[in-house]
Amino acid sequence: MTKNVRLLSPQKTIALIAHDHKKDELLEWVKKHSEVIQQHQLIATGTTGKLIENELGVLVHRVMSGPLGGDQQLGAMIAEGKIDIVIFFWDPMEAQPHDPDVKAFLRICAVWNIIVACDASTADFILTSPFMHTEYAVETPDYKLYLNRNIEKGIS
Ligand code: PGA
Repeated sequence: MTKNVRLLSPQKTIALIAHDHKKDELLEWVKKHSEVIQQHQLIATGTTGKLIENELGVLVHRVMSGPLGGDQQLGAMIAEGKIDIVIFFWDPMEAQPHDPDVKAFLRICAVWNIIVACDASTADFILTSPFMHTEYAVETPDYKLYLNRNIEKGIS
């Protein structure tokens, strides 16, 4: 499969989500990286975003709360190329009412080679990367072949 390139600008759009029992951990992490985080555009699910706004005193663009459709809204933005990095502290120890949305969200991240951290250590590595301050070319699969094949099969 040939590749496409999506060029990330020095200022990234970072999506942040934390399940309820992971929210304190995310807030700690956000505080630790507040200086770098504030140089980027932030978007978050409803409750997570409100907590980050209160913690940092910065504007966070908020979609709906995760269980009300927020994960799906962010997933749609990923498909549209509007999100560069995802910090998603999902809870591996508790079933969520919106588990199917969580799975769909992580899948769409993989479809588009999104930079994703699901724990604080990986998130540390991402936020301290020199690429946080430069352009970065993300290679994404070229799905034209996939589309053409489906059109040939009569699936549209
Ligand atoms: P919340 O949603 O930030 O509104 O709590 C997070 C989630 O459960 O996906």
